[in-house]
Amino acid sequence: MWLGLDDTDSLDGGCTTLVFHQLLDALPCDYGEPRLTRLWPFAAQRTRGNASLSVELFCDESIIKWLDEYWIKHISLLKGEISHSEHSDRKQYPSDPGMTLFVTKPDEIHYWNAVRGEATFIEGGHQWGGQGRIGAAASCAWSGDVATWEGIAWRKGERRVSEESLTTVDAMEGTFLCRDPRNNRGLIAPRGPCPVMFGVRATSSDVALMATKELINGSAETTGYRIFRTNQASGDHIQSIHKTTVGTKEILNGGHVILNNNILAFSESGDINKLAQWLTEGDSIEYIGLEFEGKIHLEGIRVTQSQILERPVCECGTRMKSMGKGQGVRCPKCKIKSLDKWVESDRIPPISGWAQPPVDKRRHLAKSMA
Ligand SMILES: [Zn+2]
Repeated sequence: MWLGLDDTDSLDGGCTTLVFHQLLDALPCDYGEPRLTRLWPFAAQRTRGNASLSVELFCDESIIKWLDEYWIKHISLLKGEISHSEHSDRKQYPSDPGMTLFVTKPDEIHYWNAVRGEATFIEGGHQWGGQGRIGAAASCAWSGDVATWEGIAWRKGERRVSEESLTTVDAMEGTFLCRDPRNNRGLIAPRGPCPVMFGVRATSSDVALMATKELINGSAETTGYRIFRTNQASGDHIQSIHKTTVGTKEILNGGHVILNNNILAFSESGDINKLAQWLTEGDSIEYIGLEFEGKIHLEGIRVTQSQILERPVCECGTRMKSMGKGQGVRCPKCKIKSLDKWVESDRIPPISGWAQPPVDKRRHLAKSMA
């Protein structure tokens, strides 16, 4: 059986990961590896971080009665709390928890629908609650094949992680996004009132566990921890890489750049914005991004060709100059003439390879293109 949970975030302590952790602790049966799935970042009523959770249960349908009671006592009360956000400019929706239970894993298509666009409810199984059933079911439907892991610990009181432990964990083979390389700031502790002490990411479950234990030793008191299999850094939200030629470039107040009237490079997108500013008409690019309200929000961009026409360079190394209309070019030094008035030469982009947002601005789902 597959159990899913979503949308229990709230201002006063509700956090879907913690609610799920407590549910797992209370379960009267065995269960598999807990899973955390991030879904489409633009979902209309998404909660903070847009994380949904699921787990395989090793039990029979008698669990339904137990879940009924647990739902009423511990989860249904979380409805209607306004969640807080990392992005304060976003309209916030009250949480609307949902829980789903399926005897067999739902078709994987439900996961893809929910990670790449606005999904809706699916039929079947046993379902509790409201809006959160969409994400809960999508998480159950995830295959888990392309995965990373995150160790999450919850705090008892204050949020404090030692710099020393963070340094140890950052140096471990297999952890990622522990620190922002630009300013050395830690990236594992959230801000705001949420009950998470830290979340540490790794490419294997073993490393996530090792890192979690190290961080717990060096932090203020925690109430528990869990290692989740996740779809973070999978790139699953991106359908494909697009190719295009730059036709127009518009730079808005605040430094945002719009290419070809619909490809958007936000000013805070670091290298992406830097590269977009540098581009010129005729350049060939490849890009990835999410479409929202008719605009592509860039998450990666790469120059595949950029050339300019220049006067040829003479054998002596001096650039030739035009002798006037229809007259060819001539070296100003040794006076050698040439009829090739223009040559194409490559412009060298300020970022070679894929430009991506700075690590603290990247989506949980974003895959490293390097
Ligand atoms: Zn010359």
